[in-house]
Amino acid sequence: STKAINWNFENSYVQLPSIFYSTLRPTPVPSPKLVILNHKLATELGLDVQNLQNKEGIEMLAGNQVPNGAIPLAQAYAGHQFGHFTMLGDGRAILLGEQITPLGERFDIQLKGSGPTPYSRGGDGRATLGPMLREYIISEAMEGLGIPTTRSLAVVSTGEIITREAHLPGGILTRVASSHIRVGTFQYISNWGTNEELKALADYTINRHFSDLKEVENPYLMLLKEVIKGQVQLISKWQLVGFIHGVMNTDNMAISGETIDYGPCAFMDTYDPKTVFSSIDVRGRYAYINQPPIAEWNLSRFAEALLPLLHKDHDMAVELAKEGISSFNELYKYHWIKGMRAKLGIFNEELEDISLVEELLSIMEKYKADYTDTFRRLTINEIQGDLELFNSREFTEWYKRWQTRLERQPQHRESKYQLMSNSNPAVIPRNHKVEEALEAAVMKGDFSVMDRLLKLVTKPYDYTCQQLEYITPPKPTDIPYKTYC
Ligand code: AMP
Ligand code: MG
Ligand code: MG
Repeated sequence: STKAINWNFENSYVQLPSIFYSTLRPTPVPSPKLVILNHKLATELGLDVQNLQNKEGIEMLAGNQVPNGAIPLAQAYAGHQFGHFTMLGDGRAILLGEQITPLGERFDIQLKGSGPTPYSRGGDGRATLGPMLREYIISEAMEGLGIPTTRSLAVVSTGEIITREAHLPGGILTRVASSHIRVGTFQYISNWGTNEELKALADYTINRHFSDLKEVENPYLMLLKEVIKGQVQLISKWQLVGFIHGVMNTDNMAISGETIDYGPCAFMDTYDPKTVFSSIDVRGRYAYINQPPIAEWNLSRFAEALLPLLHKDHDMAVELAKEGISSFNELYKYHWIKGMRAKLGIFNEELEDISLVEELLSIMEKYKADYTDTFRRLTINEIQGDLELFNSREFTEWYKRWQTRLERQPQHRESKYQLMSNSNPAVIPRNHKVEEALEAAVMKGDFSVMDRLLKLVTKPYDYTCQQLEYITPPKPTDIPYKTYC
């Protein structure tokens, strides 16, 4: 029962005006089976790990049974998809409610793939098993990397066959998030709601995520600034580990500053700023190098939605919004170079650090070096051998410059190694290993490959890992890696 599992729901979202959501139950599935359960996360949420794996627990993770205290609903939102504004909403996800943890924290519990909703726009409301497992793997790897992210509690297979490019097994992911309020939620209400409803959402957001702002003079301007700060920190972390989200539409940007909606995302192997993996991103709008300016663009859409709250005079509101957005670039550069210094073992600040980093990156690009592996090898000083990069004249010169730079700081070599090994992951969910794991899971029902991968990628900074097949970059191929969502 609900009690045995320790569900402890509150439903603050239903306190918002009803224009923000539609209540409805998940559509049942024929024969749910638990594929994976995140024991650690379940425990942190205060859930009973044993009972969650019983028949009743699985029925709840599949949406066949709604726990007591849950008020299932689909959230309404809009968004710019590849630059085009449109009405969206949860078309295949249902929020069960907010689990209050033993520590008193509040987390959305959402079933993704749980059937059609009023926002499905002709879609079937379902998800296939592969992409749900993919979200599980990558989101848990991001957590391990120390990057803000929604979490994955469980994946069940549904026993349904879903028709996509092929007939594929269905799956449902239980997603855990600080909230599912998106830039697109604000865009939605600013377009189709009243100013009172916009204010209700802004107040709700402040109350839930930025409660310090309740007493400040212009809380809505501060809300804008705090969301900008959170996104700057998030996107700089993506850039530093070579993560490419793939669909940075405004509906896929969370106000909480967590990475959300893992679709065609992937980590870059070979360093190339123009890298794009998503098959639908034909113009490279969401390429690696474009992620910071796209984040800024999305935040400008957020600022526009907030305008009526920023100041009663429209022109003044625009000025305030512009001033807020104009902080993005400088803030981003600050966080990026701070992270890059750490990746190179540098503690103090010198002006020329930026050119030191840029030079390394340009040599890496020229010699098609693997992004993660280059920094890993710099960390353990494994720079001899076969790699074209390390044998190049440019690298030798850069290396000397780097060493001289390191000599200009008092820190001991050991602390330099600590800083670098905490900043440069040794193991990331490499694309070929993720594909291998998903293939075994979906095609053969063999989940052991995924389990092994998950064990390693959730401890990405573990330099004692000896499993070279997970560390070593893939052999270069002529076929670029493509992701589909
Ligand atoms: P995404 O690309 O996952 O961010 O989804 C964009 C929009 O399409 C969201 O409103 C989703 O809920 C919706 N969507 C995606 N797949 C489906 C589906 N199979 N059925 C209904 N809606 C969907
Ligand atoms: Mg409604
Ligand atoms: Mg989405």
